[in-house]
Amino acid sequence: MKKLYTTQNKVALYVLKSMLDEKGIESFIKNEQPPLAGEIPPAIAWPELWVMDDERFSEAAAIFADEKLEFEKPKSSWTCAHCGEVLEGQFDVCWKCGASRIL
Ligand SMILES: [Zn+2]
Repeated sequence: MKKLYTTQNKVALYVLKSMLDEKGIESFIKNEQPPLAGEIPPAIAWPELWVMDDERFSEAAAIFADEKLEFEKPKSSWTCAHCGEVLEGQFDVCWKCGASRIL
């Protein structure tokens, strides 16, 4: 049993776990519940994703490497189809003309 990843981003862990599930790699999430205040320092109590089968750990790590890039990739900038303004990835609506981002 090996720890694959630990992060404060629980959603990322669940996404990853479901990908491992799809491949039939058994895994579980530890520290799913936040500890009571004062019990454990938060940094230690982050949720952890563990792979049950050591032999499949490298496979899981490879899946993770691909996924991790997705999680950490900054949103790319986009060009408003209406007015041509170039906008940062975190905006979903053009600040200039109010048109929505077309995904
Ligand atoms: Zn616009």
